[in-house]
Amino acid sequence: MVTMVQRVVIENCAIATVDAADTEYATGYVVIAGNRIESLGAGSAPEGLADVVRRIDASGHLVTPGLVNTHHHFYQWITRGLATDHNLFNWLVALYPTWARIDEPMVRAAAQGSLAMMARGGVTTAMDHHYVFPKGSGDLSGAIIGAARETGVRFTLARGSMDRSEKDGGLPPDFAVETLESALAATEATVREHHDASFDAMTQVAVAPCSPFSVSTELLKQGAELARRLGVRLHTHGSETVEEEQFCKELFGMGPTDYFESTGWLGEDVWMAHCVHMNDSDIAAFARTKTGVAHCPSSNARLAAGIARVPDMLAAGVPVGLGVDGTASNESGELHTELRNALLINRLGAHREAALNARQALRLGTYGGAQVLGRASEIGSLEPGKLADLVLWNLDTLAHASIADPVTALVFGAAAPVTASFVNGRQIVEAGRLLHVDEDAIARSTREEARRLARIAAQA
Ligand SMILES: [Zn+2]
Repeated sequence: MVTMVQRVVIENCAIATVDAADTEYATGYVVIAGNRIESLGAGSAPEGLADVVRRIDASGHLVTPGLVNTHHHFYQWITRGLATDHNLFNWLVALYPTWARIDEPMVRAAAQGSLAMMARGGVTTAMDHHYVFPKGSGDLSGAIIGAARETGVRFTLARGSMDRSEKDGGLPPDFAVETLESALAATEATVREHHDASFDAMTQVAVAPCSPFSVSTELLKQGAELARRLGVRLHTHGSETVEEEQFCKELFGMGPTDYFESTGWLGEDVWMAHCVHMNDSDIAAFARTKTGVAHCPSSNARLAAGIARVPDMLAAGVPVGLGVDGTASNESGELHTELRNALLINRLGAHREAALNARQALRLGTYGGAQVLGRASEIGSLEPGKLADLVLWNLDTLAHASIADPVTALVFGAAAPVTASFVNGRQIVEAGRLLHVDEDAIARSTREEARRLARIAAQA
């Protein structure tokens, strides 16, 4: 039996491919065949294509690769709007007692909310760094992966962990952490159960101890060994604040980047969130080892962490993607607005107006994200043979129609509505609404679970 490869033809649109040459077409077409991009170019689609199941007239639209989110904490969806005027350490200490009460239904609802918000805004690959696993809280990793599958996005679960509590000089309370042994065993089990190494994988798993101030040196070292033995990537938080730098110097006698290097945590299979407080030699170490960075401009601003040196990282050859970060420190929960925020916030830094341009911002949110997740050969740019993860942004709107150039409109303008979004060749958004999950039901369940968590935390 011959299986028919179904084709979808998208026509009459502007296209930003984000390929190595930054190829763009003012008016062009994209042909999706099965789960791959078959062809794209200027002008009209080739004639005589077989098995075309749908033609989309995308006049007034810009087509880009789908956005790739490289740092997030889904569970925080149900603790938004708390500790709003705090720096990182004070914010963490304020929220840990509540976070330690989460259970499986709460985490499922929070994951559904986080994923729905991002997918509606053009994210086609999401990730969740989940590191709070209270005893008896159920199968949290399974709940998160299930929510990603329902939404239809491509997904990396960074299986986090914490084992350095207050009694060991760490930040989290004793009841919020796992032991070294149980964290490693549960992480290995999650990789074995859920990680898919294939080209078109929808689910991957990374090993992700939380941060230097919540994890033992031994968990970092053994976590890195575990990830390399299993052939998966490594993720953590690094160099986020001056307080973290101070903590590392006091406890380990060195700054965060040197500490990470001493524990096996620099390498092309590693990506790290934030990297705000990096000196020239730290950036050179990241560049030399090809360690990736998840830049989270809104969260860094919300927690007054500082401005990451993204232009210097890019100039040095460090792979950089964008991250929403958890929504307890970025209540909007969107990635498309981070394109704009990355550009604007970096222009407040040392490089001023030369810091980033619109094309570079779009690249951070697409190809850069694919690089740091280790998937640049599969996703992140529109090229024949790559997976069909792409977004049709409507720029024929009051907000955008008079902006001269489509990429400028997308990055500098108001958040553009998503007319359609495809992941692995399958449509997940139509006219701004999610096709496979019920947004209104998710809004209700997240509100209920947020109230239930607040009630339980208040009684504790
Ligand atoms: Zn984070």
